[in-house]
Amino acid sequence: MNVLVINCGSSSLKYQLMNMQEETLLAKGLVERIGIEGSVLKHEKEGREKEVILVPMKNHKDALNEVLKALVDENYGAVKSLDEIDAVGHRVVHAGEKYSGSVLITEDVKAALEECIDLAPLHNPPNIMGIEAIQELIPSVPNVGVFDTAFHQTMPPQAYIYPIPYEYYEKYKVRRYGFHGTSHRYVAERAADMMGKPISELKLISCHLGNGASVTAIKNGISVATSMGFTPLEGLIMGTRCGDIDPAIITFLMEKENLDIEGINNVLNKKSGVLGISGVSSDFRDIENAAKDGNKRAALALETFDDRVRQYIAAYAAEMGGVDAVIFTAGLGENSISNRADICKNLEFMGLKVSDERNNVRGKEAFINSDDSKVKVLVIPTNEELMIARDTVEIVNSL
Ligand code: AMP
Repeated sequence: MNVLVINCGSSSLKYQLMNMQEETLLAKGLVERIGIEGSVLKHEKEGREKEVILVPMKNHKDALNEVLKALVDENYGAVKSLDEIDAVGHRVVHAGEKYSGSVLITEDVKAALEECIDLAPLHNPPNIMGIEAIQELIPSVPNVGVFDTAFHQTMPPQAYIYPIPYEYYEKYKVRRYGFHGTSHRYVAERAADMMGKPISELKLISCHLGNGASVTAIKNGISVATSMGFTPLEGLIMGTRCGDIDPAIITFLMEKENLDIEGINNVLNKKSGVLGISGVSSDFRDIENAAKDGNKRAALALETFDDRVRQYIAAYAAEMGGVDAVIFTAGLGENSISNRADICKNLEFMGLKVSDERNNVRGKEAFINSDDSKVKVLVIPTNEELMIARDTVEIVNSL
């Protein structure tokens, strides 16, 4: 079965076509500047150089039309005809409380996702546009929705309720949802495989540290706590997002800086995080370089970031009554030797010790704990697309 995986952003779209018998990639690509002058499709057939296709694309349907044309192109296409695409898996950010797993997209599912637009105004509309475009362009192909929030629906009420008047949960569904679920689920399953133990017997802490960042406690294969909340703004310090702060800062700054709702949202989402502290960049590589050159605010940003990750790891170990493995994934988690070492440095009290030699690894699966560490520490490159494709196969096969 060939599965096309689609991840639509507001003006961009990523895709991968996978052969799921062998779990191999056939082609992948990225469309940027959808609806903006200078739309571009960068398409890469496995084993061939990247094609850069410049063509106006005024919406997601135009973009997906170009993607489908590229996939069947006689020179750089990956299949001979669109009949060879058996199913499409869509990454959808928010499914609210409705779905705790992936589902076949029906009219009812689309209506439920539309109801969640309020909860994810930037993400769900392009996700829905992607689904509708595929339904129009290749109507006979089944579509599956894989939701970032679904994995965390297993959290117990005490892990998702906020200490604000309960009526806001009832009226507006204000609660913790958690995100990055597909990534946390993928690395947890890989960790269990690598450890040679059933996931149902493990206590895992997964640290997805990228531009967006979150930590999840996974007990017996189930998400029991996660650091992102009602929106992906809560929890860890991120590239440009503040994570946990005293909520009183918000009204204080609105008053002092004369900011309206859009203005304060912009500060907290786009100008904060390690960019805000360092004043250098949202990219950890730039911040690490600046810190090495003696920039104190860059060093402070890294220390503050690492401290908070460490605090969440310790808190989640306590929450689960222990931890068998801590997993590092996503851009920073997979690649930053120094941040991983710093995050783990004070965790020896709970039996977690990193080996400097084994930690010297980037972008590939590895155990990085020392031999005498009771807690395993793993680096696992995430693969959300593969997870989406696997769910798609499972659902389509069960039809
Ligand atoms: P992601 O959102 O998963 O694509 O991760 C992006 C983040 O990973 C960026 O902030 C990068 O700075 C960070 N990153 C990627 N490679 C490295 C590296 N070699 N060292 C430190 N940070 C890295």
